[in-house]
Amino acid sequence: PPRLRFAPSPTGYLHLGGLRTALINHIVARQGKGKWVLRVEDTDRERLVPGSIEQMRKTLEWAGLDYDEGPGVGGSFGPYYQSERLELYQQYVKQLLESDQAYECFCSPEDLAAIRAAGKNRGAQMNYDGRCRRLTDEDRVRRKKAGHSYTVRFKDPGKLPDMPVDLIFGHIKAHTDTGTPETYIPDDFILLKSDGYPTYHMASVVDDHAMEISHVIRGEDWIPSLPKHMSLYRALGWEPPQFAHLSLLVNPDGSKMSKRQDHVSAEWYREQGFEPEALNNYLAVLGWDYTRTLEEQLDEALPPNERKDLNSLHEVFTLPQLINAFDLTHLTRRKASINMDKLDFLNKMHLRLRAGLIGQDGHLVNYGKGDSGVDPDILEKRRGDMVQQFQRDLKANPDIADHPDVNDRGRVAEIFEFEMPRVRRFRELSQNVSFWFKDPSYTTEDAEKVLKAVGKDQYILFLEFIIPRLERIADDSHHFNKDDGWILANRAHNQLGLKRRGGVLKAMRHALTGQDQGPSVPDIMMVLGPETTLRRMKAGLD
Ligand code: GLU
Repeated sequence: PPRLRFAPSPTGYLHLGGLRTALINHIVARQGKGKWVLRVEDTDRERLVPGSIEQMRKTLEWAGLDYDEGPGVGGSFGPYYQSERLELYQQYVKQLLESDQAYECFCSPEDLAAIRAAGKNRGAQMNYDGRCRRLTDEDRVRRKKAGHSYTVRFKDPGKLPDMPVDLIFGHIKAHTDTGTPETYIPDDFILLKSDGYPTYHMASVVDDHAMEISHVIRGEDWIPSLPKHMSLYRALGWEPPQFAHLSLLVNPDGSKMSKRQDHVSAEWYREQGFEPEALNNYLAVLGWDYTRTLEEQLDEALPPNERKDLNSLHEVFTLPQLINAFDLTHLTRRKASINMDKLDFLNKMHLRLRAGLIGQDGHLVNYGKGDSGVDPDILEKRRGDMVQQFQRDLKANPDIADHPDVNDRGRVAEIFEFEMPRVRRFRELSQNVSFWFKDPSYTTEDAEKVLKAVGKDQYILFLEFIIPRLERIADDSHHFNKDDGWILANRAHNQLGLKRRGGVLKAMRHALTGQDQGPSVPDIMMVLGPETTLRRMKAGLD
């Protein structure tokens, strides 16, 4: 079974791209019934931000991405903080020194700056020039005795290592920050810093080996480091793992996401009220050609119109469905640009799924099998939880908190029914819903805008037509049916010779809610009942 790792550096918050990396590690681990490790890469002591791992763990927990080994969980490959594994790195650095594949370097920061400047003048690459390779053993002993600090550098054999076939990028041509194979300049990069901590490259390779990692899934920005890693695997005589690099996330205009933008932080999405299921779904379908995955599963090419359908509706996946369907090798190498509209859409879909407003069928895993999937008891429980949360949110609104209906769970559940299908985020549920409990004000900006849009004269005409007819229905049956509102609106439309019936409905909505938007007017009438409906219609006319 596969072993994977997510290896953040605790240098701040979890980046959206980091959450995507964690998610894909999680999915691939679960697909293969393997394990994934949370490894804390904290060897760069200057960049540590206290508390960042705790925050990242909270975000992972919120997202439902439970790792199998790591901080707080344990595991037999620990410790999982690299700062607690220094001896291990030092042991392998020693091995490289003894096999003449590394050497100690006593150059000071000033020396290095001078080397770089000289290289720049010659128009050459700015790698270290390897001068400490030439030190004799006596030189080294003397300098150490004199208390000079030193680093340990890799002795680059001078040619690029064989490169692996990346699961996403395919054959990666070794293209490093030090050039292509033709222009390659040896790079004696640092393995061990003067403070005794390893560099990222050394620690990462040692740990991926020691933790028996089978697949390294990480961001595309690490591709330039891959030649160094491959050189180290070769020097240490280890089999490298498989690699999959995920293409970078960019802004819709193709620009790089900057640390100053809010939407870079995974936590921001939580604060904005996105559902973790929706965010996971969104991050998984970003750059994933799931239509191709599906075609391969069905073993046939889909007709263009079905392809198109799949590109909208059928991209809704829960995490278990993703684990079923996701195919790492169908991720694109192109930069994946973030798309808030898609996230909004998916959020809405996941809310509906949770509330049981839509079934699971039509999704990739169930495609063609018509399985709507959710156990009624589970659905009941989920809806109950949602209604409870809705009620809590309503009670937090001082405007309506004391209204008896707000404290009536059955009533709240009924209103939930009508509001739920409309919202994109759960928090919107409790916005603009006071009208269910209290008569609206007609002097708000929103209300005045609606009135203006309908036209005062038309408004009066419509309501004067509607009210007596409503009264007749109310007298007969003491309640409104689902259709009553529609029938009346249609009648007004015909008998008053209107072009559209939209204006009538707008006028009715204005009288009932003081708002421009909301659930359907006939539904509102039905729930409010004749007494309230008529009272408000008349109040609207005054
Ligand atoms: N610590 C690196 C980071 O912060 C991990 C790179 C890797 O996965 O190898 O992104």
